[in-house]
Amino acid sequence: MEFSGVRALVTGGARGMGRCFVEQVRAGGGQVAFCDVDAAAVAAASEELGAPGFACDVSNEGAVQRFYDDAAAAMGVPNVLINNAGITRDGLFLKAHPETGEPVMMGLDRWQQVLDVNLTGPFLCTRAFAAGAFRAKQAESVVVNLSSISRAGNAGQLNYSAAKAGLVADTVVWAKELARYGVRVGAVAPGFIRTPMTEGMKPEALAKVASGIPLKRLGEPTEIWLAIRFIIECGYFTGRVVEVDGGLVI
Ligand code: NAP
Repeated sequence: MEFSGVRALVTGGARGMGRCFVEQVRAGGGQVAFCDVDAAAVAAASEELGAPGFACDVSNEGAVQRFYDDAAAAMGVPNVLINNAGITRDGLFLKAHPETGEPVMMGLDRWQQVLDVNLTGPFLCTRAFAAGAFRAKQAESVVVNLSSISRAGNAGQLNYSAAKAGLVADTVVWAKELARYGVRVGAVAPGFIRTPMTEGMKPEALAKVASGIPLKRLGEPTEIWLAIRFIIECGYFTGRVVEVDGGLVI
């Protein structure tokens, strides 16, 4: 796809990597609209980024369709979707209570929240996006899913690992099913990237992580953007995952 013709939707675009992707699409000469869950953050980011922003919880079916419709009204039928919005609610599946010794299990709320945002969110967004591309008989459309190296199975991230592994499986299914409609689908699996998500980790934990990465540092959002741009521009790429992790293997 020629980058100048890009009309992109970015979910979770007010902060972190999503915000960087909004900036990069604009810098590359494409059009972009974004959503995020917090209305005040959306309004501020929309003003700062000079891009239309919409308050939308990606796990809410009606809100996602409204985001899609409003964005399409603002810039025309989107031809790129970046499923970026994501959350973590880390914790061990089972640990012993320090005083009673009783088993403490991961709560259903932690499991469900992460699956809702990280897996149901991309399902709803891709559904609205693919239907719009189909109706418009768009020749080429691209979906990029933000997975994670945690999809291999990371201790303390049962919920997140399941969602990010599921998203890679969906990437392959969508690639197979939607190719006939001109939709390519790829995934990027970042390692540890410098964003508010990782800035929430304890400094000593971050230092320990960095020391285990062959390149000895966290990645930058712009380095993930390079992989996304490749997926958008390479017309022969679909159904695959690009890993950008500094060589880290979980
Ligand atoms: P981030 O800094 O936490 O930003 C994520 C954005 O998504 C935030 O603005 C967040 O809003 C928003 N969001 C959360 N729930 C939402 C919902 N229900 N609907 C719409 N927006 C929602 O995260 P990031 O580090 O940029 O990560 C971006 C993506 O890359 C995620 O899918 C993440 O899992 C993945 N990833 C990140 C890393 C990393 O090291 N950072 C590594 C691998 C994969 P609030 O801030 O208000 O919650």
